[in-house]
Amino acid sequence: MSSVEIRSISKQFGQTVALSDINLSIPDGSYVVLLGPSGSGKTTLLSILGGFEAPTSGSVLIDGRDVTGMPPAKRPTATVFQDYALFPHMSVAANIKFGLSMQGSSRQERQRKSEGMLELVGLTNMDKRRIHQLSGGQRQRVALARSLVIDPEVLLLDEPFGALDLNLRRQMQNELKAIQQRVGTTFIHVTHDQDEAMSIADLVVVLNAGAIEDQGLPSRVYLKPATIFTATFMGDNNLFDGTIQGLNEDIVELDTQLGLLPLPKKSLSENFWSAEFKINRPITLALRPEQIKATLYAESAKNDSTLETADPFQPGHLELGQALLREQIFVGTHHTCTFIHQPSECVIMAHLPQREPIEIGQCYRLSALSTDIVLFS
Ligand code: ATP
Repeated sequence: MSSVEIRSISKQFGQTVALSDINLSIPDGSYVVLLGPSGSGKTTLLSILGGFEAPTSGSVLIDGRDVTGMPPAKRPTATVFQDYALFPHMSVAANIKFGLSMQGSSRQERQRKSEGMLELVGLTNMDKRRIHQLSGGQRQRVALARSLVIDPEVLLLDEPFGALDLNLRRQMQNELKAIQQRVGTTFIHVTHDQDEAMSIADLVVVLNAGAIEDQGLPSRVYLKPATIFTATFMGDNNLFDGTIQGLNEDIVELDTQLGLLPLPKKSLSENFWSAEFKINRPITLALRPEQIKATLYAESAKNDSTLETADPFQPGHLELGQALLREQIFVGTHHTCTFIHQPSECVIMAHLPQREPIEIGQCYRLSALSTDIVLFS
């Protein structure tokens, strides 16, 4: 178990800036996921942590010790690669014992530790199998066992489930998280899969174009993203333009594509107040599809008189106006619906519960909890 400190790491490949001034503190024993789109610098950062790439500038400290210039074999790290990098001609047990042989462990110790690892990753009795006789998921477990058996302080995992089908991927994610909790080693895991990051990370770090966009608990990063990039990369989001119109007591008035919206002051972050609040300032409002409530009007949108008879909304809900349902896709857990807001014509995506009445071409009344809205300047 060990903490990792990344200090002002930058990396250039010729003219390409892969990483730019990355600073990150990774607490002891935590499960960290580096999340970002292709080319955002995740693998480069992981390679620098493992000693496979040297940074152009900056330093890496593990447990307070500067390891920046240290070769991979000397570092207290082990890496699980996407292609597993197993020795195909060796048995499962020989693969697992390999690192222990390099460390000069005795035969008995190699046997004992290998058996323990096989049990940990659920491969007891598979020790004599050759690698080509294993499924993708089993190979993944061998790769994990081979890396963990040498007792690294930090385990680095580069897209470890990249080659697995979705069901196995989800199963392995749960198992990996459970293994990490059992062994207590610091895990740093690279992925571009937001669901994977959400389900296993203690700390999620969102990378974009070589810089950190956001970092924190998955729930915080998802519900209150720090940047527009994070808001749209972590799951779906609706973005609406607007300006700040006014402030009275506890309410901020926003002039948006959806009309005038009164937003309780307390639903905005402190950062917004200290730096970003100015009348007429352009803002972007983000609202996730599952945070939008859509209620079907009793009759068609053409009949305006029905609008007045609609049920009042719950306290804390903001009215977002009316919208026509243009498309819906049933995805099992919900309906993914595309609405056209009236009269602005802006497109709004909303998830409607399975049993909600879905009527294409009909008018719905939209609302959301004011506390779910996130503002960006
Ligand atoms: P992916 O998810 O596709 O693996 P990534 O987020 O891991 O992407 P990196 O592989 O770290 O991204 O690459 C970051 C940037 O650095 C990219 O623009 C890439 O083209 C560039 N890059 C990476 N390795 C090299 C290299 N050896 N030589 C030149 N450019 C490189």
